[in-house]
Amino acid sequence: NSGRKPLMAGNWKMNINHLEAIRLVQQLAFGLKEADFDAVDVAVLPPFTDLRSVQTLVDADKLDIAYGSQDVSAHASGAYTGEVSGALLAKLGCSYAIVGHSERRQYHHEDDALVNAKAKAAIANDITPIVCVGEGLEVRKEGRHVAHTLAQIDGSLDKIPADRVRTLVIAYEPVWAIGTGEVATPADAQEVCAAIRGRLAELYDGEVAAETRILYGGSVKGGNIAGIMAQADVDGALVGGASLDPGEFVKICRYRD
Ligand code: PEP
Repeated sequence: NSGRKPLMAGNWKMNINHLEAIRLVQQLAFGLKEADFDAVDVAVLPPFTDLRSVQTLVDADKLDIAYGSQDVSAHASGAYTGEVSGALLAKLGCSYAIVGHSERRQYHHEDDALVNAKAKAAIANDITPIVCVGEGLEVRKEGRHVAHTLAQIDGSLDKIPADRVRTLVIAYEPVWAIGTGEVATPADAQEVCAAIRGRLAELYDGEVAAETRILYGGSVKGGNIAGIMAQADVDGALVGGASLDPGEFVKICRYRD
């Protein structure tokens, strides 16, 4: 991974209430040692309603666990009922915000232009967007997965300057592998992550491409993470289901053991 520090990010989705969030973060903290945090960046992405509880715990115990949101509004403030702005998330100490998760693209019809606006809204508040891209099953079967994913990269990163792109996180998540138990092979993950890095080199330059972290996501577990992390262009994982199980998520973070 050429000097890029791996990131293991747990997307809790719409699970875990605030009390359970405190327990889960404590279990992670007990399961991970200082050496683990030196080796990987660890982040949790709870529902909005848990963020204050997670913040309190992380601050009180000075835990080396970052946290963030699963979405962010494209708007700065105002009459957008139900939305949560980057400024409000920054105030709660969020380091990350997922943008363009496939579930939002699918159920909320988010397109690349909106994902791009959300990424910019996060960046404007010094929150690192985790920009999700990836193809569905039909596109994969037709062999268009690389072109499809690179088009999402182009649209989602549009007009984001190079000095910001090098700090953001991209997550390649083939939709057919999310929550299905159908993990992409390490070679599948590498193929598309390498193509994304190649596109960053074209859109920006080789230095930006070499610095930007690209995660794989889709049914990652303790038992398959090592093979995925052995790939040259995979810099970590965005983990859904397995991030709700502290033992499993700790195993993922300690994939080198
Ligand atoms: C996700 O939703 O980002 C994800 C990768 O889910 P899972 O690990 O459950 O496939």
